[in-house]
Amino acid sequence: MKKDIQPNYGKATIRCVCGNVIETGSVKEEMRVDTCSACHPFFTGQKQSISSQGRAAKFMEKYGMKQK
Ligand SMILES: [Zn+2]
Repeated sequence: MKKDIQPNYGKATIRCVCGNVIETGSVKEEMRVDTCSACHPFFTGQKQSISSQGRAAKFMEKYGMKQK
């Protein structure tokens, strides 16, 4: 039997703009997201480091959320 066809089911890669890569199961091979559990304010508990503050500000602005 030939093994030219390799099923991609069950393995997918999610690439976030923050550089975090998540491997998960999906029918898609690769997905790109703007936020992930590593950089999303919701998951990070609103904690923002100095290096990510600018990125977070853009995120807030993008989704129309006011940051105080
Ligand atoms: Zn991320």
